[in-house]
Amino acid sequence: MMIDKNFTIETLQKLVRINSVNPALEGGGGGESDVGVFIYEQLWSLGIEAEIDELAPGRLNVTGTIKGDGTGRSLMLNAHMDTVGIKGMADPFSGRITDGKLFGRGSYDMKGSIAAILGAVKTIQTEKQKLKGDLVISFVADEEYESIGAKALVQKIKTDTAIVAEPTSLQVCTAHRGFGIWEITTKGKTAHGGNHQVGVDANMHMGLLLTELYQMSGKLQSYRNHPLCGEASLHVPLIHGGHSLFIYSNECTIKVERRTIPGESEKNVEDEILEIIKNIQGKYPEFQAGIKQVMWRSPYEIDRSKKIVKDVSKAIHEITGRHPLIIGHTWWEDSAIFGEAGIETVILGPKGGGIHEEVEWVDLDSVVQLAGVFYKLATGEITPQSPG
Ligand SMILES: [Zn+2]
Repeated sequence: MMIDKNFTIETLQKLVRINSVNPALEGGGGGESDVGVFIYEQLWSLGIEAEIDELAPGRLNVTGTIKGDGTGRSLMLNAHMDTVGIKGMADPFSGRITDGKLFGRGSYDMKGSIAAILGAVKTIQTEKQKLKGDLVISFVADEEYESIGAKALVQKIKTDTAIVAEPTSLQVCTAHRGFGIWEITTKGKTAHGGNHQVGVDANMHMGLLLTELYQMSGKLQSYRNHPLCGEASLHVPLIHGGHSLFIYSNECTIKVERRTIPGESEKNVEDEILEIIKNIQGKYPEFQAGIKQVMWRSPYEIDRSKKIVKDVSKAIHEITGRHPLIIGHTWWEDSAIFGEAGIETVILGPKGGGIHEEVEWVDLDSVVQLAGVFYKLATGEITPQSPG
């Protein structure tokens, strides 16, 4: 097996030079249409029948399949095409290469992975490899915002196993945290500031709740831990209350961001918040609060005894000579959507730095090695007795 290093790196450079900033995050973002068409054309030129699914104007998924003979499990290699914004970056689309690193927005998250998938597929096609299971390659929209791409993808295609190629420094990620956002509003009663017998202050009532949430955040970090993902957490990124001096505030609203660990459910997390509200109402009968869920993204975990986890570890060992670690991520990824669709999913990507920061880069050797790992997983070219 020989990965075409020049093709893989040149493809990465071209990908980074295409603006695919998620337009929901930053006005003027390119979306996935240009980068999607580029990938679509690459796939056809490699002899793969590719398809484009338009999800919304300028937002699309690209998929392709190399058919197996049906004697093996199907595998999907997946990457998202959108990037976060470019504010503050000196030269976001340069694709400059220095000391084995390629710089630019999306180089690490996650165009390096797109290039590695295309590099692997090129070798499979050039060698006319006969696959056992189907190989699906998928490039999705909008991971950095609402994941419309991954949600649409699992409606269209399901495979037995998948690799979500988010950055892992060539370690094997088997779990990540999820999150939920709730909006909570306390209700007061408007009155003249001098009319304290009538007014009820929604902002001060929110203070009661904030104190309890603050204590809860401390407790979560001490008792709710996951061996790979660390602790659960809670914070309040937004608050808004009142509209004028000399008037009792009749409404105060916060957004609560709760980061969850594998095993925590939507219902349990919401119940814990409701419990706090109930306790405050027990102490202060005039306290009134309403709660509404705004967003929920499940945490994810795959058992490390699954064959796909072992295969990924073995393939990395064979390519790099190193036994990879099993790790977890603290942020959410599309893998949760794949997992919920019943696809056994592992997260595996290259080395790099500056994710969502002003200087982003990816290590080129790791991109080429990643392509080699993908090739081995797709073709099943893994030595069975190799330790994992
Ligand atoms: Zn990403």
